[in-house]
Amino acid sequence: MINTNPTEKSLSIVKSAFREYYFKHSKNIEAPLRIEEREFGYMQFGSGMVRHIVFRNVGEILAVLVRDIPSDVYCSNAYYVFPSYPMQEKQWKGADLIFDIDSKDLCLSCEPTHSYFICINCGKISESKSEICLSCNTRRINRTSIPCNKCIHTLKKEVERLIDLLSGDLGIKEDAIQIYFSGNNGFHVHISDTEFHKLGSQARADIVGYLMGNSVMVESIGVRKGPEGFFIKFPKSGLAYGWRKRIACELGISQSSILKLSKMVQQKGGYDEFRTELIKTVRDLGVRIDPHVTIDIHRVFRMAGTLNSKSGLTKKRCHDLKSFDPLNDACLLGDKEIDMEIKARVKLRLKGQIFNLKKQNTRLPMYAAVYLICKGLASAN
Ligand SMILES: [Zn+2]
Ligand SMILES: [Zn+2]
Repeated sequence: MINTNPTEKSLSIVKSAFREYYFKHSKNIEAPLRIEEREFGYMQFGSGMVRHIVFRNVGEILAVLVRDIPSDVYCSNAYYVFPSYPMQEKQWKGADLIFDIDSKDLCLSCEPTHSYFICINCGKISESKSEICLSCNTRRINRTSIPCNKCIHTLKKEVERLIDLLSGDLGIKEDAIQIYFSGNNGFHVHISDTEFHKLGSQARADIVGYLMGNSVMVESIGVRKGPEGFFIKFPKSGLAYGWRKRIACELGISQSSILKLSKMVQQKGGYDEFRTELIKTVRDLGVRIDPHVTIDIHRVFRMAGTLNSKSGLTKKRCHDLKSFDPLNDACLLGDKEIDMEIKARVKLRLKGQIFNLKKQNTRLPMYAAVYLICKGLASAN
């Protein structure tokens, strides 16, 4: 939870909402493949992480969920011989390939309009960015954000770009790609193609570099350094695939555009200037994923169907990304009315309802109450 000091009452409301969810929506919990080879972990409200747990079936997971009401539940992307042993003794067998697209990596222009800065020490909430709390002068400040429609639209576009690259360039079949809403401000993409299981961190880092467009060279589209600055010689294998095709399309060139490309490079000021420009263009065309998530082959990762304590929303499978609306489809908590104290001006949309709240006392349905408590912007009265 973003709010590090929720009141007793707020905490008990969140816990009871989570308990009700795990009772009512146990069907949402997706048992991962080869469950007995995975490591599980979970966080409890107000205490630390429990890791190195093993489950043999989804029933065992559910039993823990309704007994302990964890705030967050995780499962390894890796398969181990001994998943419950300490890390160095687990014996790694392989890991799913996963990608994380988070709004924090997208640098959205709307972000400042729905960000809040909460002092961990005194609880003061500010709508403008500040390193120091203006009330108590500490630097312990948490940022929280209420994603808007634009955030969600841009996140979905980014997921589509990733899928395009995965299927078009890496040849991954669409039915081996599973898309999940993360339960907060992002999407997770899981690849179930076993071809990738054995890949180590370095190979995964290479894939990330490729997808982000970090490794494209101007030579690959035919611009070469020469005695007179530069010359154009298109690669024999052509411009019809992968990044070459993407760049050719962006620049509007083909194998027969020697003159056109030559002019372009000249206009930019020569080889070095064109190169700098192209690197920037390619980065913009690449997908913005969190590299650490993909490269870490020992990570425990949020489990599908469980609740995210940063929002009270569910990590949920998206069968149809276009029509998927996270603020509706992943908002599955109950709607019993709760007396709340709203601590900042907030506009939010959940379960088809628009809430336009100012600093006030008001009654909110459980799902909205929990969302705002998790975001640190309200407490139960
Ligand atoms: Zn403060
Ligand atoms: Zn936004």
